[in-house]
Amino acid sequence: MSEVAIPVPMKSVPAVPKVGFVSLGCPKALTDSELILTRLSAEGYATSKTFEGADLVIVNTCGFIDDAVRESLDTIGEALADNGRVIVTGCLGAKTGEGGANLVRQMHPSVLAVTGPHATQEVMDAVHANLPKPHDPFIDLVPGSFGVAGLKLTPRHYAYLKISEGCNHRCTFCIIPSMRGDLVSRPIGDVLKEAQALFEGGVKELLVISQDTSAYGVDVKYRTGFWDGKPVRTRMLDLVRSLGEIAAPYGAWVRLHYVYPYPSVDDVVPLMAGGAVLPYLDVPLQHSHPDVLRRMKRPASGEKNLERIARWREMCPELVIRSTFIAGFPGETEEEFQHLLDFVREAQIDRAGCFAYSPVAGATANELPGMLPAEEREARRARFMQVAEEVSTARLRRRVGATMQVLVDSAPALGRKGGVGRSYADAPEIDGVVRLLPPEKISKTLKVGEFTRARIVATEGHDLVALPI
Ligand code: SF4
Repeated sequence: MSEVAIPVPMKSVPAVPKVGFVSLGCPKALTDSELILTRLSAEGYATSKTFEGADLVIVNTCGFIDDAVRESLDTIGEALADNGRVIVTGCLGAKTGEGGANLVRQMHPSVLAVTGPHATQEVMDAVHANLPKPHDPFIDLVPGSFGVAGLKLTPRHYAYLKISEGCNHRCTFCIIPSMRGDLVSRPIGDVLKEAQALFEGGVKELLVISQDTSAYGVDVKYRTGFWDGKPVRTRMLDLVRSLGEIAAPYGAWVRLHYVYPYPSVDDVVPLMAGGAVLPYLDVPLQHSHPDVLRRMKRPASGEKNLERIARWREMCPELVIRSTFIAGFPGETEEEFQHLLDFVREAQIDRAGCFAYSPVAGATANELPGMLPAEEREARRARFMQVAEEVSTARLRRRVGATMQVLVDSAPALGRKGGVGRSYADAPEIDGVVRLLPPEKISKTLKVGEFTRARIVATEGHDLVALPI
């Protein structure tokens, strides 16, 4: 969904047009930003670090929860105040306000253009209409100057790999399908080509993202594609196996996010046990009680998650499970909430995040009976986090004394004063870290983007403390 850009006259076209860029929201939005920035750079636009120094500003927005909507609208307001020429893209751009009109247009009528998410071409059209691209005969003749992988906003050593857009589910608390549409899987050949390019470019950790990774290929009936001259099906199992093969020569990690507990995942876990990809699963469960899951209309809600997780752990004892939950969903009884607490204890969820339920404009859950008072929802979230932290800390403590491989994220002065890294159990941004002590051996150095072995000596909240060896 997008709106047509109305060109605003410019005084003069600068020699190298500069675009300011703000990227808000989740890793999926980040990959949209990377695509737009790649195109801008390939066409010879420069980027500006300030709104004032730019000829035009692009704001990639998030519209998931009310706080994110507010942050996005505020950022657009700031960009308009400081610069005046603003293009809006992303999830909020697809949202309607009162009377069915575009929300961003209602709040900020002077923006140049508004598009929904994954709309690189529409954003570029709006940029071209308002800030003509510089002519550079060399650049204009070089297609894809940044290679298959494009520009990345993440540090050089890790990258997100988006395998699909949209979602076929209709969870009652979520408006993502109305913003991003139904599932559209990227061709497997393209995905694997991008992965190869990222590893060649120095990426040591690839984070597979989507709205529902287990559903990869459902929309194209698991069509057979080609990679490296061989047929490969558009299906999670084949994708994971191929990614493991591509990562192996680079000694790189592959981490899976947003995996729902379908029976098909049972076939992926042995690949983790065999070391092809990290034994780490990000499974957004949201709740454990079958009645709440039904009210949420969650995918795989009929699955016996406790048994499934136990089976996964049997197949792969090293498996780390991260999940997110919602406390105080409409109609949640104290008994249903207790069920959730018991589940987190029994399933031994390594890393758990929890939101107090908050109504999202446009979500069907708003019409469910039994909305709990905000204080009760918040109190349940706090109770949940207390239990989750007990479980998490106990699981972390078991690592003390072990030697782990750590990917170094930060190491000033070659790590002589220590640094910060992550083990296979920690995804960037959302999990804990491994705090690295200064190495005992004088000759030992730490470098960002390289692996080091480290002996775990203590825990510190959600983090580990380790001595590089
Ligand atoms: S699975 Fe549910 S929560 Fe996730 S994007 Fe789809 S509808 Fe939203």
